[in-house]
Amino acid sequence: MTAMSRNPEAVAEAIRKAQKIAVCSHVNPDGDTLGCATAMRLALRKLGKEVSLFCDGKVPDMLAFLPGSEEIRIPTGTEGPFDLMLAVDASDEKRLGACAALKAVSAHTAQIDHHPTNPLYMEVNSVDGDAPATAVMIREQLKALDVDLTPEIAVCLYTGISTDTGNFAFAATNAECFSIMSELMGQNLPLARLNRILFREHAMPQVKLLGCALSSLEYYENGRIAVMKLTRKDFEECHALCEHADTLVNYGLDTIGTRMAMLAREADNGMIKFSLRAKEPDAINDVAQSFGGGGHPQAAGITMDGPLEDAMDKVLQAMIRKLNG
Ligand code: 5GP
Ligand code: MN
Repeated sequence: MTAMSRNPEAVAEAIRKAQKIAVCSHVNPDGDTLGCATAMRLALRKLGKEVSLFCDGKVPDMLAFLPGSEEIRIPTGTEGPFDLMLAVDASDEKRLGACAALKAVSAHTAQIDHHPTNPLYMEVNSVDGDAPATAVMIREQLKALDVDLTPEIAVCLYTGISTDTGNFAFAATNAECFSIMSELMGQNLPLARLNRILFREHAMPQVKLLGCALSSLEYYENGRIAVMKLTRKDFEECHALCEHADTLVNYGLDTIGTRMAMLAREADNGMIKFSLRAKEPDAINDVAQSFGGGGHPQAAGITMDGPLEDAMDKVLQAMIRKLNG
């Protein structure tokens, strides 16, 4: 097996030899995987290639501004054959969902990715676990292909880099991000407009739901634990879906002095869905596991039977024990 490293020259060679190319994004697509796919589409077109974009999932409304995103298709099993399948930002084959089947109808396969756990599942692998976003690697890939930046490509790469770095805030954000940003600004990047779409605007039900969540907020253990809840009634009154609450737990966690946060929501099937968060060095995943849930040390979840208040009390008591343990 090849060592994990960037290999833009090998990917460029595979691209040069191919005419029909399928570019594939990962399931639950985010700004990085879609920014990379749409940037590669523009670059490959400039090289005279026939490009098809695939993703096993719908493009989020927020990312519909990406040029070419309207061409992205969910594979149906009738596509191909292709000379090359190129996966972008997909940490393993499972993460490709239905796109994984395109391997069988592609003469050659390649990938560009930045997940340290990547098992190098393609013929040609350009993988750098230290890269803050796959879009950072795409900038280098374009150089290897001799494709110049354009204002459209700049929009795609900015979307990938800014979303995967939490708007240039996560620990992985590095000098390379900013040197690429300088190049993108040179392409008249509409920074303020894109920043508003990507990081500030939310769907109306989500904003209304935030109001419900904040008015339910209670602190325990001298503010070290923040607890919020959303009932069926809240969702109905806000015309909101369960996913509109996905990031709201952070409002509790982001309180100064708070170490752990819980958001409990009543799902439409009557189950109670918990989002649990902790600030490093605290961890919350063992609390989730003790109720049959799971996740990462600082972001975990549980799905359990109601009623809401009983379930919340059980999880809160476990959080208090963890905090004082
Ligand atoms: P979130 O709070 O954003 O829904 O989930 C945070 C993390 O916890 C995610 O990595 C997710 O996979 C995990 N998680 C959320 N809900 C559940 C659950 O009901 N069971 C398990 N095992 N993991 C969950
Ligand atoms: Mn990524």
